[in-house]
Amino acid sequence: MKTNFDITSLIRENIKQLEPYSSARDEYKDATTDEMIFLDANENPFENGVNRYPDPYQNTVKDMLSEIKNIPKKNILLGNGSDEVLDLIFRVFCEPNKDNIITLPPTYGMYGVLANINAVENRKVLLTDDFQPDVKAILKTADQHTKLLFLCSPNNPTGNSFSQKSIKELLKKFKGLVVIDEAYIDFSEQESWLKHLSEFPNLIIAQTLSKAYGVAGIRMGSCYASKEIINLLNKIKPPYNVNELSQQKAINRLKKLDEVNNEIAQLVSERKRLKKELECCVNYIEKVYPSDGNFLLIKVDDATKRYNQLIELGVVVRNRTNQPKCENCLRISVGILEENLKLIRSLKAIQ
Ligand SMILES: *Cc1c(COP(=O)(O)O)cnc(C)c1O
Repeated sequence: MKTNFDITSLIRENIKQLEPYSSARDEYKDATTDEMIFLDANENPFENGVNRYPDPYQNTVKDMLSEIKNIPKKNILLGNGSDEVLDLIFRVFCEPNKDNIITLPPTYGMYGVLANINAVENRKVLLTDDFQPDVKAILKTADQHTKLLFLCSPNNPTGNSFSQKSIKELLKKFKGLVVIDEAYIDFSEQESWLKHLSEFPNLIIAQTLSKAYGVAGIRMGSCYASKEIINLLNKIKPPYNVNELSQQKAINRLKKLDEVNNEIAQLVSERKRLKKELECCVNYIEKVYPSDGNFLLIKVDDATKRYNQLIELGVVVRNRTNQPKCENCLRISVGILEENLKLIRSLKAIQ
């Protein structure tokens, strides 16, 4: 349990004062019956499936996620991808040109980009050589203007999960908010931090429908946090941030959890097979890092050369050689069986 935590001191002054926009759908939300007519939002009344504004609070999607994740609806916020969710977090808590955040490279690039967009200093504390958070250095780097700490676990691009002990220590000792990005959690054997939400009022968990749920094209990310934090994010989000078609697609996908779980199982099994194959049979691959995600990070003799050779053969991977501690590393997403076979054939062909 974390006690003596006061969220108020972390909120930007203008956000505390803010009077949010009130949409037509905010102002009338009593029960609706078939006889009611809606002349309140200047919509086009001719029905075509999307002539009405979408539900600004995505109630049906949230009902489903609430049941799947076992988290009350009041603790959930949805955004146009997790990128939007993360941006909302910056804008509630980080005062431009004054506050700072901590990120742990090599990690997901969007944290740093969002910091730049919002004119917030990004203090980088490198992961240790085994890609774990350097707890001491992180706590030493934080000052009274450090609002957010981003922990990506499983981490992109390294693939590993952070130690539970380090995360717990940071949740207890870091004075700002800890954002755990669990974009890849469904591919991992590690448990989600969702069940610790009520223990830590400074915890925000970000997830997404882009990876395991297989609907990157609809742009839907989620975040789970105390209702105080969720209320603040709701206060500043664009009123109709998740469009109607995306909500419908999400609902349909969440109805087919068997399909989702089956795909996850296939990807995890392919990841394991791919790892063995790359370790045994391609001589310029020096290391295949352990992965809890749907991708593998590999170290080769010359990443840029191998990257270009693969492109020639029609295989596009991600060259991560310029990331700190990732010299000569390539990040490879796990594909379907045929794609993975082509990848292996191509890797062997360029020996
Ligand atoms: C892919 C990814 C996301 C997903 O972002 P969306 O905007 O939801 O598509 C979030 N975090 C990490 C670390 C990722 O790799």
